[in-house]
Amino acid sequence: MEAMASGQFRPWGQWLSGLAACLLVLSGCDVRSLSESGTSVDVTEVRTDSRSDGQPRITDVPGSELEVYYFDVGQGDATLLAGPDFTILIDAGRHNRREVVPYLQQAGVESIDLLIGTHPHADHIGQFPQVLESFVVQDVWLCGNSSNTLTFARTVDAIAESGAGYHEPRAGEAYRIGSSYIEVLHPTELTSNLNDSSVSVRITFGEIAFLFTGDAEENGEWEMVERGMPLNAQILKMGHHGSRTSSHSGFLGAVRPKVAIYSCGIDNSYGHPHQEALDRVHGMGVEVFGTDRHGTIQVVTDGKHFEVYTERGEQRIARQPGEPALTR
Ligand SMILES: [Zn+2]
Ligand SMILES: [Zn+2]
Repeated sequence: MEAMASGQFRPWGQWLSGLAACLLVLSGCDVRSLSESGTSVDVTEVRTDSRSDGQPRITDVPGSELEVYYFDVGQGDATLLAGPDFTILIDAGRHNRREVVPYLQQAGVESIDLLIGTHPHADHIGQFPQVLESFVVQDVWLCGNSSNTLTFARTVDAIAESGAGYHEPRAGEAYRIGSSYIEVLHPTELTSNLNDSSVSVRITFGEIAFLFTGDAEENGEWEMVERGMPLNAQILKMGHHGSRTSSHSGFLGAVRPKVAIYSCGIDNSYGHPHQEALDRVHGMGVEVFGTDRHGTIQVVTDGKHFEVYTERGEQRIARQPGEPALTR
């Protein structure tokens, strides 16, 4: 643990460690290249139809660490997964701010394998144009819903001009990018509720899984549960900025997170995070971190253990394998 804590980009004082609780098992799969994106990336689609127990087996042993940054972008979302052989960005902050490209540069990003826009709201795709202009992006995923905003129009133009591959993923698809494994959990089809049609994914590195549901709300979460999607993940990003409309108990029971992280701005007009959502997560004994309180939050994992670092630290928190979460 100490060795991990002395890394290069971990100026933050607070950390937490955990031990993977799950062993992932899969019964055979068929790997093929990502559909006609025309690119040479190592993005491969994995067919999981033959899965019998609903759990994938990760046979690749990651060679190094994955660093996941839940950037402090105010009232918006931007999460970077910087792995040893893959770079994924999920959402890119608000339209009226400009911090995402500098954050990515500080994190050492040189190119992006996959850029996901969970849904077309301007607090999620806001800085897509700058990101697409500043980095080579191999593939872009959007949910397929559109919005009549200038931000959305600029995003569509920027994707077209970038030459990136484009895809609208649907629940049940699965991909490998380098040593990461990406399962698409949502949606199966689009609805007029932009939040509830958010692209939702479970990304696994070794034995550690991260869950991202954009602004999906209770209906979307229930659909994922009822569909029997593999939702178990040690690190949950709370849906919709910690809104009471998300992180419902049935969903949390399926995820069984060790740590929950939400992203929202200080004193935002929506009142995020809502106490009801925090109470539901705290009620499970889960440690919660938020970008409003902690600034940018970084999770580092070697594929077996993980640690959480925060930009604005409070006291140091440690978790030993098998112990319940500590609460403040
Ligand atoms: Zn949002
Ligand atoms: Zn939204």
